Amino acid sequence: MEFKKLPPVKEQIMKCVRCGKCRSVCPVFSEIRNETAAPRGHVFMVQMLRDGKVEPEKAVYEKLGNCLLCETCSINCPSGIDVHELNAAARSYIYENKPSTTKELVFDTLWTKPGLLKTSTWIMSGVQKLGLQTFARNTGLTKILPGDLSRAEKIMSGVPSRSARSQLKRVNPAQGEKKFTVGYFLGCGTDLLNPEIAKATVDVLTRNGCEVIIPKDAKCCGMPHVANGKLDTARRLAVHNIKIYNSFNLDYIISDCASCSSALSAKHMEFLLGGLKIEDEAQQFAGKVMDLTQFLVEVLDIKIPEKNIDELTRVTYHDPCHLANAQGIKQAPRELLKRIPEVEFVEMPEANRCCGGSGTYSLTHYDLSMKILDRKMDNAMTTGAKKLATCCPSCSMQLKYGVERCHWQCEVVHPVVLVSRSYRQLPVRS
Ligand code: SF4
Ligand code: SF4
Repeated sequence: MEFKKLPPVKEQIMKCVRCGKCRSVCPVFSEIRNETAAPRGHVFMVQMLRDGKVEPEKAVYEKLGNCLLCETCSINCPSGIDVHELNAAARSYIYENKPSTTKELVFDTLWTKPGLLKTSTWIMSGVQKLGLQTFARNTGLTKILPGDLSRAEKIMSGVPSRSARSQLKRVNPAQGEKKFTVGYFLGCGTDLLNPEIAKATVDVLTRNGCEVIIPKDAKCCGMPHVANGKLDTARRLAVHNIKIYNSFNLDYIISDCASCSSALSAKHMEFLLGGLKIEDEAQQFAGKVMDLTQFLVEVLDIKIPEKNIDELTRVTYHDPCHLANAQGIKQAPRELLKRIPEVEFVEMPEANRCCGGSGTYSLTHYDLSMKILDRKMDNAMTTGAKKLATCCPSCSMQLKYGVERCHWQCEVVHPVVLVSRSYRQLPVRS
């Protein structure tokens, strides 16, 4: 769809009253302190692009690319402007005018083909197991990587050798009386980087009366493509996934990843596919999508068996932006953690502030991302927790790196993994 005709571009820009509320909450502006990095500045830039007053140049993309797409500005804007959508639309418009071969390779060739993506992760895991990543680091070989990647490659350590998909069955029967048939949207981050989360998700859902279907041909949710100026590819991926999931008779479509459930939500579908022929089908699909923690607490009203416990484990929680800001889900993950008998839940200051991970952001904006991460770690460590829970693979990767940088003895973990451990009588503290 043409940039100028996209609903946020067509209908929202003029609503900006330049009040600056967005500026006061933006984690990037609080580090850069420059109007071009402020959400308000982005709205103005998009307006100039729309009116042809600035050209769709790389320099404009770079300014807009400083944004984490964390949506903090959008939920705080009194005029109801979806600033992040304006930004994503503008990135895509500029990218269409200034495409890059590397991005085509990464986001079109690799990230749209699950088999290829899996192979590249497998190779990376092999490289790490053989110690080649450490070798390359020690010998300075990583310095030949482009841009921030020479420093950011450290964030990508501990890549598992086997994907979740290769370890799970396509159809997982409910234990006991069946309550629902759910489609599990197994996103790339969970599948390839955190298979233990996927296994715990299937374990907990089946224990609670759900038959879990994992469709074979599902692809990426498209969120990395949106963030990288590839709206058309994100649209193609969305259409593909809608067709696949709508071909099953599902009661719900469950995701344990904040970015995936946000990408599959009705709001995001409207942004991507509003006004297109597939719109109704997309809304039918999105109407079934639900975050795992919300499903476990609000639909299944999950109960975890009581037991005698010598010592509680202190757990804190970081809100992923794509869950708290994009979907307004804050209570369910906390409630789920509180229902685990072994857990003592402690709130951290500024739990709802971005960790600086934001998908590929930490790989492309290393220094800025680390400044935002440092503040998150300072807040998290005040709790003295032994577990730092979160519901997003990108946040997880960033927080694990933060924990390592701070030499903090703390495990970063998805709440569902703690629930599964509790069911299986494994020490939550393991
Ligand atoms: S909060 Fe909304 S209306 Fe106010 S300056 Fe930011 S984008 Fe404009
Ligand atoms: S989405 Fe987040 S990082 Fe981007 S401008 Fe808004 S508040 Fe700032």
